[in-house]
Amino acid sequence: MKVYLDNAATTPMAPEIIHMMSEMMRVNFANPSSLHSFGRQSKTIVEDARKKIASLLNTSPGSIFFTSGGTEADNMAIKCAIQDHDIQHAITSKISHQAVLYPLQDLEQKGEIKISYVNIGEDGLVCLSHLRELLEDKPRTLVSIMHANNEIGTIQDLKKIGEICKEYNAIFHSDTVQTIAHYTFDMQELDVDFMAASAHKFHGPKGVGFIYISEKIKINPFLRGGSQERNMRAGTENVYGIAGLAMAMEMAYENLDKEQRYIKDLKQYMIDKLQAEISDVQFYGRSKEIEDSLYTVLSCHFPETDIAEMLLFNLDILGVSCSGGAACSSGSSRGSHVLSEIAPYSKRPSIRFSFSRYNTKEEIDFVINKLKILFP
Ligand code: PLP
Repeated sequence: MKVYLDNAATTPMAPEIIHMMSEMMRVNFANPSSLHSFGRQSKTIVEDARKKIASLLNTSPGSIFFTSGGTEADNMAIKCAIQDHDIQHAITSKISHQAVLYPLQDLEQKGEIKISYVNIGEDGLVCLSHLRELLEDKPRTLVSIMHANNEIGTIQDLKKIGEICKEYNAIFHSDTVQTIAHYTFDMQELDVDFMAASAHKFHGPKGVGFIYISEKIKINPFLRGGSQERNMRAGTENVYGIAGLAMAMEMAYENLDKEQRYIKDLKQYMIDKLQAEISDVQFYGRSKEIEDSLYTVLSCHFPETDIAEMLLFNLDILGVSCSGGAACSSGSSRGSHVLSEIAPYSKRPSIRFSFSRYNTKEEIDFVINKLKILFP
């Protein structure tokens, strides 16, 4: 048996989507920019997907632009907002994803902006009074705060942060890669200028996502070339990917309540088992609070052990796939920037288990039995 509990890194594709996309690859191969009937069919697929996604977020199709995924959407929001609105000050937190931190830090190194890092608590929550302080008496600022952290699962109050940004006339970007299609969004209720989504985080294909751009804000094109995406993002559209993205989102929102309940129940089951069967296991941030953290992520740390360095490797050999933090850091010698921010002195080995609709309690039992071998 092998168990996959690394769904925050990526999710397995839904079989229904694989089926739909394979058929589409055979039939709808034409370039959506072509004017003939084949091309027009592809164009219709792309525009139907846009309409579907917009209606799920209660926004207009004109605010959705397809991208190659979350990284591109984050880079586009940050670089375009800063360049096109003459922004010289940006606020983010040290636990933002690299897709946000690196483009900001590149711009700071070039001397184009100054970054302020808003304080976060041990639970990963942004300190709202510090955010206000950083915005006070500053030139127009870009604020980039992620909705849910991919490593520790802390969820920020997007509504509140949006209201603060509006009060100070700041531009607000939120990396919503871990939460779109996992929570509902009503764009009429939120003061967010940019959001990012990635299909592979909710059982869709890799290499496709979108950026939401509020109609209140205007930016210039990110990639230059053809006139795709109303001139905003050149490049022949990933037609099958876009259809897969829309289908994955539709499936997620159709069954959202049921799936949320199912996954929360699974996460609670794992928390209970870990506490009952492994001595001195603890949880980062608010990860243990089912209603108060990203329900797909459980971030734990275990007693210090000689095999700490090899823990993930040992689990992998035993048939358990999970991660030591973010996937991008688990394979490198640099530790997680998120964990070193919230628990800088901890030498305890940490593991992120992340769940999807395809996991079962039997799988959790299997994982607990393997952990018991490593932590007898
Ligand atoms: N932002 C967050 C919070 C993520 O978890 C990820 C994925 O790891 C990304 C951005 C990047 O998304 P993508 O893999 O689609 O480029």
